[in-house]
Amino acid sequence: MSDWQNPGLAHLWLPYTQMKTAAAPLPVVSSAGVRLTLADGRELIDGISSWWTACHGYNHPHIQAAVETQLATLPHVMFAGLVHEPAARLAQRLAGLLPGDLERVFFTESGSVAVEVALKMALQYWRNLGHAGKQRIVYFRHGYHGDTFATMALCDPEEGMHRLFAGSMPDQIMAELPNDDIMRRAFDLLLETHGERVAAVIVEPLVQGAGGMQMHDAETLAFVAAACRRHRVLLIADEIMTGFGRTGRLFACEEAAQLTGTTPDILCLSKALTGGTLPLAATVARRHVFEAFLSDDPAAALMHGPTYMANALACAAANASLDLFEREPRLAQVAAIEAQLRTELEPCRRLTGVADVRVKGAIGAVELTGEIDLDGMRRRFAELGVWVRPFGKVAYLMPPFVIDSADLSVLTGAMHRVLSARAATA
Ligand SMILES: *Cc1c(COP(=O)(O)O)cnc(C)c1O
Repeated sequence: MSDWQNPGLAHLWLPYTQMKTAAAPLPVVSSAGVRLTLADGRELIDGISSWWTACHGYNHPHIQAAVETQLATLPHVMFAGLVHEPAARLAQRLAGLLPGDLERVFFTESGSVAVEVALKMALQYWRNLGHAGKQRIVYFRHGYHGDTFATMALCDPEEGMHRLFAGSMPDQIMAELPNDDIMRRAFDLLLETHGERVAAVIVEPLVQGAGGMQMHDAETLAFVAAACRRHRVLLIADEIMTGFGRTGRLFACEEAAQLTGTTPDILCLSKALTGGTLPLAATVARRHVFEAFLSDDPAAALMHGPTYMANALACAAANASLDLFEREPRLAQVAAIEAQLRTELEPCRRLTGVADVRVKGAIGAVELTGEIDLDGMRRRFAELGVWVRPFGKVAYLMPPFVIDSADLSVLTGAMHRVLSARAATA
C-alpha cells in the first residue's frame, strides 16, 4: 500500500463509478511502452490505450523531449491576441493531413468541448447566412459525443449514461444509421421533413465508440454525407475516437471521401491527438464554414474561447505525435493488429454469452448477452496481467499501435479466458 493511496482516495470522486460498491481503483506508479506498473510491482499490458489515446504507447521519448523543450521555453500563454509556433504549426499540419478543404482549426482542451464548438459553429453558420431557424442536430442511435449538456443530448438515449438528465437537455433528433435501402429512404425523408430546422447531422465515422462499438461501412457514411448535401444540412464528423489511425486510415472519413469525394463540413479531434500525453482537442472547419463568419458585424464572430485553449505544451506534444505518424509505420502496425485481432478474437464468437465479434482497424469488440458482471470481469482481466475494461455490453481491445504480436496475443488470450469462464457459469 502506498502512503498516498488511502488518505487520498478518501477525497477523490471517480468517473462513472458507484463509489459505495465499486472495487478500489488500482494504484499505478509508472508507464512505459504498452505496460502500466502498479504500486505492488505488478505489470499490466494495456489493452485500451488509456481511453484510446496512447497510440504510440507510453513515455515515447520523442514526445517527452518535445514537451520538455516547450516547458523550458513557453509552457502556456493565453490565445487571444497572442499566437505561438506550436499551435500555428499544428493547425497547418492538421489542415494538410485532413481531406478536402478542412483547413481552419479551433483548439480546445477536451473532446466534449470540441463537439460543443462544432455545434456552435453549425448553428451560427446558418444564423450568419440568414437561416436562424436551423437549430436542431440529428444524431444516430448508439452514438456518443461527450458528457457536457449539449453533447449528452446527442448520445444514445437508451444505452447512454445520461438518461437521468433527459428533461434538462436540448431536444435533438435521433436517426438510425442508414445501412440498408429502407433505412436510406427513411433517413432521406427525415432530412427532407426536418431540413428547415436542422443545422447539422453528427456522426462518428465507421465506428461508434462509447455507445457500444457499433460499426458501419464507408458506403453508409458516404450516403449520410450525400444526403446532408442534398438537404442543405452540415455534416459534423466526430473523429475524437477514430482519428489518427484507429480505424486503419489516418482519419475514418477518408474512406467515404474516397468513394464520393464528400468531406464533412466540420470535424472534431481529441483523444490520440497528443498521443495520450496532454489534454487537447480541435474542431476543424471547411473553408465555406469559416467564410460564413467573416463579416463587418462583430456579432458574427465565433463566440468561444476556453482559457487553456491551444496550450503550448499540448500542441508541442501533438506536433511530436504527428512526427511519429510520419516517421514510424503506424498505419502498417494498425493493419497487422487488425489481422491478428480478426484471427484471435474469432473463437470468442462460439462462446455462450457472446452475441457478436467485430473488428475494424485496431479495434476489436466482443458484444455480450445476458447478465454482465462488469466489476468481476475487470478484476479477472487484471488478475491475468492485462488492463481491459468492458463497459455496457462490450468487452473490447484498442491497444497502442506499437504493441508487438506476442503482447497482443496475451490480450486476446485473456479475452478468451475471461469470456470462457463467464460462459462456463452461464
Ligand atoms: C471520448 C469522446 C468524446 C468526448 O471526449 P472527452 O475528451 O471525454 O470530453 C466525444 N466523442 C467521441 C466520439 C469520443 O470518443
